[in-house]
Amino acid sequence: MPIFEYHCNTCKKEFERLVFAGEEGKIICPDCQSKDVTKKMSAVSFMGAGLSKCATGSPKGFS
Ligand SMILES: [Zn+2]
Repeated sequence: MPIFEYHCNTCKKEFERLVFAGEEGKIICPDCQSKDVTKKMSAVSFMGAGLSKCATGSPKGFS
């Protein structure tokens, strides 16, 4: 399941969404309904997905 992490640039909230094909442009913040959200990579979701974006010392600021 493609679960992505998003960060709202308006209220600074972080949230997760299941995103299906074609829905990426429709993601809004659940708190303030802003469309100004930034998608963050979820490493777990991409394991084995053929996306070889190796995390070479990427910061883990999310817990
Ligand atoms: Zn927001």
